[in-house]
Amino acid sequence: MKCRICGAKLAKKGDLCTKCYNELQEEMKFNEDKKVLFTLKPMYSLKRCFKRIAWYLVIAIASIMYSINIAVTEGGFGNILVSIIGSIGLLLLFVCYFAYRKYYATNNKMVFYETRVKKITKYPLMEKTVKNIKYDDIEDIVYYSAGSIDKKKVGQIIIYARKTGYFGGVRISEIEDIEGKFEKLRSILPVEFE
Ligand SMILES: [Zn+2]
Repeated sequence: MKCRICGAKLAKKGDLCTKCYNELQEEMKFNEDKKVLFTLKPMYSLKRCFKRIAWYLVIAIASIMYSINIAVTEGGFGNILVSIIGSIGLLLLFVCYFAYRKYYATNNKMVFYETRVKKITKYPLMEKTVKNIKYDDIEDIVYYSAGSIDKKKVGQIIIYARKTGYFGGVRISEIEDIEGKFEKLRSILPVEFE
């Protein structure tokens, strides 16, 4: 008789060795864990988006004014065309930025269960990806704050686990009240960090 999973020889009758049986049991327990303790979701605010790109906006507006000025004073089809296409192009860039921020906020989350954390990510035109991390595998949890862009103290939380590698980690950005959320995690998770 051999183990159905690893192929090890079995001493007794059956189809799984003790090691594989235990692993399977643990896996099942893991999947049954559906009680949500806490959820982290990115924020989205138009005001914050504007603040983050304020300098780019200033430069873009100055460039647009400059090209319009040339088109008006010098005339010429070429100058007018450059002015129009340039303005539309810059406008589209900003629209894309805002759309990306909005998309990120609605398609990313971290859900904390009793024994594991699940990171759910969805990219445009792709299947959503789900990363499951057991608390036992977590090596560290850290946060970074973007500083004082606004009073909401927005930041990023990164979880380093055995499988994610120290430089990788699983992260979620644009978390509001980052310090409060971090303390909350520290108090509810059966993990020691920082
Ligand atoms: Zn086995």
